[in-house]
Amino acid sequence: MAANILLVEDEPGIQELLKLNLGQAGHQVTATDDAEGALQYLKTTMPDVILLDWMLPGMSGIDLCRRLRADKRYQPVPIIMLTARGEERDRVAGLDTGADDYITKPFSPRELVSRIRAVLRRRAPQMTEEPTEMAGLKLDPGSHRVTGNGKSLDLGPTEFRLLHFFMTHPERVYSRSQLLDQVWGDDVFVEERTVDVHIRRLRLALEASGHDGLVQTVRGAGYRFSAQQ
Ligand code: CA
Repeated sequence: MAANILLVEDEPGIQELLKLNLGQAGHQVTATDDAEGALQYLKTTMPDVILLDWMLPGMSGIDLCRRLRADKRYQPVPIIMLTARGEERDRVAGLDTGADDYITKPFSPRELVSRIRAVLRRRAPQMTEEPTEMAGLKLDPGSHRVTGNGKSLDLGPTEFRLLHFFMTHPERVYSRSQLLDQVWGDDVFVEERTVDVHIRRLRLALEASGHDGLVQTVRGAGYRFSAQQ
C-alpha cells in the first residue's frame, strides 16, 4: 500500500529520518517546513496522508489541521499529528481538531508506518490490497484482477481505480468533481467530462458479465455504485 505522504515538519533531522524510513516502506514523501508551504502544495496536489507536526513556526499544526478540516476538499485526507507533547489533554485537543491519529515523539518509524496503514485502511479503503465483492463482481487489488460471476473482465487502469473506489464506497452519490479528487487525485487539470468518458468505458467492460447496471447515473448529482435499483 504505497501512499503519497505530505510531511509538515520543521526539524530537519526528523524530516530526513521520516523521508528515509517512509521511503523504505514504499511511500512517496514530500516534505515542507511550515503550514504555509503545506497550503501551497495542497493547492495542486492531494496527498493520501498528511503527517503534521504540532509545533511549527508561523501557523501551528493544530491551526492548519483545523483549517483543512473546515475545507470540504481536504476532509477525506487522513491527518496524523506528530508531537512532543504527550499529555492526555493535548491528545484530546489534537483529535478534537479533526486529526485521525496522534503520535508522540520520540516514536519509532516502524510504529508510524503501521499507524499510516491503519488510517489508510479506515479512511481510504480503496488504498488497501483487500479484495472486495458485490453482487458477484469481484475486484482483487493485489493481483489487479476483476471478475464478474467468475468471468475475467478486462479494465483499463483508470477504470480499475474508478471501480475500486466505487466498490469500497457503495450506496453514495459522488459528483464528478468528487470522483476526480478521489480517483484522479493529483491531476487537477483533468476536466469533469473526462469522468463521463471513463464511466462509459467502465460500464462497457462490466457489460460482459451483466454488472454495468451497478454504475448508476444520478441525475443532476453524479454517480452511485449500488446493487439496488
Ligand atoms: Ca516542530
